[in-house]
Amino acid sequence: MDRFDVIVLGGGLLGSSVAMHLAQRGVGSIAVLDVDLGGRYSSSELNAGGVRATWRSAMNVALSLASIEFYEGVRDEVGFDQKGYLWMYDAARWPAAVEAMSWQNAHHGLGVRALTPDQIHDHCPLLDQLDGVAGATFSPRDGLLNPNLVKELYRARARAAAGAGIRFENYTYVVAVDPEPDQVVVRALKFQEFAPAGDQAIKSILCDAMPPEDAAAIKLTADVVVNCTGAWARRVAPLYGHVVPVRPVRRQIAIAHVRDVDLRPYGMFVDPSGVYFHRESTHILAGWADPAEPDAYRFSYDGEAWFEERIWPALAGRMSRCAQMRHRSGWSGLYEYTPDLCGVIGFAPGHGRVVEAFGFTGRGAMQSWAAGRAAAELVTSRRFETIDCTPLRPTRFAEGALVQESLLI
Ligand SMILES: Cc1cc2nc3c(=O)[nH]c(=O)nc-3n(C[C@H](O)[C@H](O)[C@H](O)COP(=O)(O)OP(=O)(O)OC[C@H]3O[C@@H](n4cnc5c(N)ncnc54)[C@H](O)[C@@H]3O)c2cc1C
Repeated sequence: MDRFDVIVLGGGLLGSSVAMHLAQRGVGSIAVLDVDLGGRYSSSELNAGGVRATWRSAMNVALSLASIEFYEGVRDEVGFDQKGYLWMYDAARWPAAVEAMSWQNAHHGLGVRALTPDQIHDHCPLLDQLDGVAGATFSPRDGLLNPNLVKELYRARARAAAGAGIRFENYTYVVAVDPEPDQVVVRALKFQEFAPAGDQAIKSILCDAMPPEDAAAIKLTADVVVNCTGAWARRVAPLYGHVVPVRPVRRQIAIAHVRDVDLRPYGMFVDPSGVYFHRESTHILAGWADPAEPDAYRFSYDGEAWFEERIWPALAGRMSRCAQMRHRSGWSGLYEYTPDLCGVIGFAPGHGRVVEAFGFTGRGAMQSWAAGRAAAELVTSRRFETIDCTPLRPTRFAEGALVQESLLI
């Protein structure tokens, strides 16, 4: 049996950030457990890399802004490309966008500017078809980063601070979490690292909760457990008796190419259709959230047909040069929706030894630094020390105290 001060469940961006902050706060022994530390199906490896502080709730602005300040300091290490968000609106949504912008500037000094259609074209001459666009907000401190580099930086810093005191346990599937008065017992199935059907084994666990038959049972204990299992929190939290309203929802991303369209001088674009896009090297990365997508752990990608139906019309309608745009590839990953579309940070109800940090609903990459710090504060001090994240407590759904956020893509 292995004993740790803290066991972190899930080694995505949140789990890796929590581990780093715990190590930097002097926690002596930490274990990070994950089915696949490489994260092939984790949201942290499958997202769009967008970073913005331009939210409608003070809670989300605070977590994003503190994280942005960190990313600014490690800009080259994490590929933080701070070229802004250009978010275009139709006439119906424009007044609310202007109101949100005024609030963001007055209360948080974000320096967001309103652009007319002519100014949008001046900002990016490729946007030459602006019918139906009433205006855009441009937020210069926002941008794009490489989530894999961010995760690796968190892990490297965790190792640097904790030395031999930190263990990243790969191929470890947590199946039981039992809080006791003086410790938490975690049981897991450890499967073979180089199993011939490695990828399929990981997919079977993460989609169907079907572990390999030859997996070995292991038992670990800790003073505190932090649940950072993202979209899988809906499966993992019930292990300690907490049924959480986190919904896994597939989101697809397409990679396309067209000659003479180079988006590298720009950051993120959001079209009034809801399609968002940005540079992916010299290609274009674009995504769209299908409101009819069911809750499910699934990773299929609908390919060319989806691209032709959803992505091509939006981009070709906005940039005439995109008429020749061709589909190259794509993928899907899981969003982790909560009822108010905001993350969860806090002690699990009734459990002083279980901290929850999941459900960031499309915001987990950009907020991971500050959210990880907040969770680590709860572990070591039992209270928030820097940003008060009480509004994100897990009990808020039952209390009806939802966080109000509306600026989602
Ligand atoms: C298409 C798409 C686009 C997105 N775009 C953005 C964006 O532009 N900006 C942004 O900030 N966010 C974006 N997101 C959201 C962001 O990716 C997530 O919020 C973030 O990655 C969540 O990180 P996490 O560490 O909580 O979860 P994950 O990265 O999913 O990590 C959870 C880990 O838990 C492990 N796990 C699960 N169950 C168990 C178990 N029983 N035992 C052991 N391990 C387990 C999994 O293997 C996984 O590695 C996007 C997401 C998607 C899908």
